[in-house]
Amino acid sequence: MVPGSDDTICAVATPPGEGGVAIVRVSGPHAVSLVDRLVRLRSRRSLATVRSHCLYRAEVGVGVDSSSPLNDSERKAPLAISLDLALVVVMRAPHSYTGEDVVEVHCHGGRLIVNRICERLVVDGARLAEPGEFTRRAFLNGRLDLSQAEGVLEVIQARSDESLRLAQELLRGTLSGEINALVETIAGLLARVEAGIDFVEEDIAFVSEQELIGGLDRTIVAVDRLLATWEEGRILRNGAKVVIVGRPNVGKSSLLNALLRSDRAIVTAIPGTTRDVLEESALIEGLAVRLSDTAGVRKSEDPIEQEGIRRTGLALEEADLVLVVLDGSEELISEDEEILCQTEQRRRLIVVNKCDRPMRWSRESLSSLPEGQMVVTLSARTGENLDGLRRQVARTLVPRSLEAREGVMITKLRHKQALERASESLHSAKASVVGRLAPEFLAADLRGALDFLGEITGRVTTDDILDRIFSEFCIGK
Ligand code: GDP
Ligand code: ZN
Repeated sequence: MVPGSDDTICAVATPPGEGGVAIVRVSGPHAVSLVDRLVRLRSRRSLATVRSHCLYRAEVGVGVDSSSPLNDSERKAPLAISLDLALVVVMRAPHSYTGEDVVEVHCHGGRLIVNRICERLVVDGARLAEPGEFTRRAFLNGRLDLSQAEGVLEVIQARSDESLRLAQELLRGTLSGEINALVETIAGLLARVEAGIDFVEEDIAFVSEQELIGGLDRTIVAVDRLLATWEEGRILRNGAKVVIVGRPNVGKSSLLNALLRSDRAIVTAIPGTTRDVLEESALIEGLAVRLSDTAGVRKSEDPIEQEGIRRTGLALEEADLVLVVLDGSEELISEDEEILCQTEQRRRLIVVNKCDRPMRWSRESLSSLPEGQMVVTLSARTGENLDGLRRQVARTLVPRSLEAREGVMITKLRHKQALERASESLHSAKASVVGRLAPEFLAADLRGALDFLGEITGRVTTDDILDRIFSEFCIGK
């Protein structure tokens, strides 16, 4: 799988199973000649002569002798076995997805048809593509850098408008652009530091301490700015984990159901019915949210309930946001206070439920809430102010408005980790400038920073990293 290998790969690019249309994709130096053996254009032209990026109507068949390309009389004769009528498009290197010759056959979406086409391609010398291999080739041939290749997968997997927008930014190369600008600055500093090392006898300063510190500070600020987008970026891409807690019977399950607008969680009047942690996905203000309803946090002798309580503790640990549900129609009891106390350090919203009934207490009865603590009063039963809660959940998870969020955000752990390491190297570089250490130390740190940044765009990479990234792709992409 090295660039320029003469390996031609094929795969069904559409999802498995039956469908209106299926696309068989072939990429590599023999793509055109291989497909030419199994299609016959309406116009009877050879695929080798058609225009790039144009669709041609063709008959697809597999019974013809595949040992050599069709000669002219064969091309005019009926195919031995006609499988389908299809559209064929040739995209010539280097202006194709992979950068190689790519041919796609758009046929009817039947399993048998696509299987026969692929079988024939393989008999004739193509190889079935591995997951993500088309995109991997695109990367190896310089059509995309690594973070853009990851963007392809992100676009395919996006489940919310926001995650799609971020994926498109990644694919478009917005992050790569910022990284490349940083790389350029650091490489410029490094070149001058190295020149200073090489010409040390001449005692010429190629770069002043001030310039070094100025350059390093600017890159550090830029890297930190990117890192600061991670919290929101991660939540926008992956969704957030929101955990609902409260003593039994305050209406946790009812609230979960109301947010999901379905009857998934069991609602009963017997305290302690929700024994396990239930997790459901919902879209809240365009944000993907995994909601879990937990067992109460109260003490219990029942081993099953104890297990539920243990899991509640775990769910709390992982939560991006905790909804503490209280029953406004009943006096607060010590259990409520306990839960309030337990969740004080967490990002949380206090939900006062059952506002359709006479309220027995007001916010003031909640002893010493931290400043700025949001309290939302609603009714899970009637749905009153449920929208208020939705808005508040979204605002708490992603505080910046949509407009303020323009630009690059870090959404992938891999990118965040590389940036963190780059930041460490840059800080260490700055420390060696300030401490007037030998320039070799500075050079080593700058090289380190370049390597870590290069991991993001794939300028620096290993087969291991590539395998890990592309194995997440589907076959045919
Ligand atoms: P959980 O134990 O906290 O999960 O509470 P449930 O959701 O099972 O609800 C306990 C009881 O409170 C049920 O009888 C619900 O119908 C009732 N309930 C829940 N939310 C409301 C509400 O907003 N208003 C009223 N009046 N009753 C509610
Ligand atoms: Zn419940």
